[in-house]
Amino acid sequence: MVRRGENLKLLPRCGAKPKPRSIRTYPCKQAAMPNGRCYFHGGVNKVKHGNYSKVSKTKRTAQRSIINQFRKSILELEDSI
Ligand SMILES: [Zn+2]
Repeated sequence: MVRRGENLKLLPRCGAKPKPRSIRTYPCKQAAMPNGRCYFHGGVNKVKHGNYSKVSKTKRTAQRSIINQFRKSILELEDSI
């Protein structure tokens, strides 16, 4: 008979090392996710969203380039007058 919690002991562990001057001297013992780290050390989701996502970054750079073009054209107009 397999005791309850026996399977959990067989799970791969996180193993994240503590910082050099940390009080904790042993590696993390939390159960590892498929990426090899625990929830705390490996993060939840690799897909970024919001202001720092790839889509919004490219959008911002495109908008910035358009604004810069307008600024240049305005400066050129002012110089010509
Ligand atoms: Zn960990």
